[in-house]
Amino acid sequence: PKSRQVIADALQVQTPTRPSVRGTLVIEEGFGSGIKDPDDNIYIDLSAGVAVSSVGRNHPKVVEAVREQATKLMHSAGLVSSTTVKLAKKLSEIMPEGLRDECFTVFGMSGSAAVETAIKFAKAITGKHQIVAFEGAYHGVFHGSLALTTRENFRVPYMPLMPGAIHMPYAYCYRCFAGFDSKSCAQACGKYLDFKLNTPNTGADDVAAVIVESMQADGGYIDPPIEFMKALREACDKRGIILIIDEVQAGAGRTGKMWAVEHYGIKPDMLVWAKAVGGDMPLSGVTVHKRFYEKLPQSSQVITSAENAVVNAVGLANLEILSDPKDDLIGRAAKLGGELKQRLLDFQKTCRLVGEVRGRGLFIGVELVSDKDKRTPLDAKYMGQIAKTCEQRGVRVMACGRYGNTFRLMPPLVITEAHLRKGIDIFLEAIKEVEA
Ligand code: PMP
Repeated sequence: PKSRQVIADALQVQTPTRPSVRGTLVIEEGFGSGIKDPDDNIYIDLSAGVAVSSVGRNHPKVVEAVREQATKLMHSAGLVSSTTVKLAKKLSEIMPEGLRDECFTVFGMSGSAAVETAIKFAKAITGKHQIVAFEGAYHGVFHGSLALTTRENFRVPYMPLMPGAIHMPYAYCYRCFAGFDSKSCAQACGKYLDFKLNTPNTGADDVAAVIVESMQADGGYIDPPIEFMKALREACDKRGIILIIDEVQAGAGRTGKMWAVEHYGIKPDMLVWAKAVGGDMPLSGVTVHKRFYEKLPQSSQVITSAENAVVNAVGLANLEILSDPKDDLIGRAAKLGGELKQRLLDFQKTCRLVGEVRGRGLFIGVELVSDKDKRTPLDAKYMGQIAKTCEQRGVRVMACGRYGNTFRLMPPLVITEAHLRKGIDIFLEAIKEVEA
């Protein structure tokens, strides 16, 4: 088939550092929650292009926004484009409490770039040098954001990374290092941070920021208990440390609220966003509280191709679609996600491979184990088999997690109920076949 030729060519001319070229799908067309390969096979995409296509691929309003903006202006470096200003205003209106209507935004083209900006800003604002992140975190691939990420195969070949990155335990309660129940685990992880920051001679008085994913994404689709996030906010407040919330994967409606941090009732100092805000276009940014405005060195950073007017027109269209009360896509994510989670919890009772089902809205992790009592992660071979079976039957699913044993269900928020049901039927069937 034509796909094979594309893969063969990709292996010749694309970088070996890019994951999963061999044996993966080739995408030729996208529409809603569907993708089509060059051989005209159609797949239901339960991964939304890695949690990006929340409004679906090629949404008619997005296509129209591209068409309209492209005839007027695309590139705008060095100048001020009204489209970009409109997007910054829209972001300000929809930010979570604590940032809403009192913030400004720096744009970028990838989540990693926005994280780099956030940590640079935190250093400039506080005059301090260390950044606290969490075990299992994924914040990006550049020297700063990678230093805050704990994926060893991404890090090791590229050492040394940014100095001053410190990792603390994340409230991953299913695998709590102290064997606590979830509330105690969350409190212990929060207190651990507090304890570390109180320990003299560790450089703890040199911490500029704590960066945390509102819900840990690549680390295993984990929604931490509220106590954990509250403890982080308190630890930062006590010491004037900046709390950066990374919403790159969980943000923009996926979890049933516009921002996942809104489930936790804490106020961020900076919020990093990307993926679903840009959707079909590469767009990211960090939105920062206004009180830091005067503390930032003026004219100290430029990203030449950020602020592209077409990209930003698409960002605006996406945010308008997401916040349109008529379609209520965010409410839909909460409702469909709730029903899906219940279905998976019921399945867990009958399947010995399902260790935990977790998440909120359409941000759902299904952690698979070979032994429920010991919580032994399911072997990569079987994880691969499940993904492959799904693919052969027309469904795209992706795994994640520290042990690679969690499937993350993150379909577009526009997926039809029939497609979601069909996709999940096939996914559960594939798990059952491995169980047998
Ligand atoms: N932060 C989080 C939480 C992410 O999930 C990702 C991407 N997986 C990033 C940052 C980096 O984003 P990008 O790949 O766009 O650089």
